[in-house]
Amino acid sequence: MSVTDEVLRANETYARNFEFGQLPLPPARKLAVLACMDARLVPSQILGLKAGDAHVIRNAGGIVTEDALRSFILSHQLLGTQEFIIINHTDCGMLTFKDEDLRAKLIQQTGSSPVAPVAFHAFRDLEENVRQQIQKIKSHPWLPKSISVRGFIYDVKTGRLKEALEARAASLRQS
Ligand code: ZN
Repeated sequence: MSVTDEVLRANETYARNFEFGQLPLPPARKLAVLACMDARLVPSQILGLKAGDAHVIRNAGGIVTEDALRSFILSHQLLGTQEFIIINHTDCGMLTFKDEDLRAKLIQQTGSSPVAPVAFHAFRDLEENVRQQIQKIKSHPWLPKSISVRGFIYDVKTGRLKEALEARAASLRQS
């Protein structure tokens, strides 16, 4: 049995006891979360969220890409979310390579140089990466200043979230 078959079987059990059929479309807790796709990081579990509570946007790295921005804008403007959380994590696969190296390798392996994806968004500094993602949201003209935007690093060894300090606070701390 393939894993796909296994999860379909699990879904049959899930649907038999389903109790969320009456939930409204807008997230009840007006929260949107962007998190890395890492398999060890399960946003609903680490944040205590239930079905219907929050939007969860995921991609490799928890990067505010064009597509994540699209989701955040729809989340706020059409579905009323007021707080955004960005979650990166320790031991992230995005820390293990460089965009240009992977691109060169794939072009060499396949003989093909497609236009998409434009970037893989690998990075070297977790806190700095989180700060950059926060800035991309805060500087977008379709996302008002009233939205709370905070970023965190999830420790895959302890299950704990640590807030990524603002660049200014971090530089003050170092001086
Ligand atoms: Zn990751």
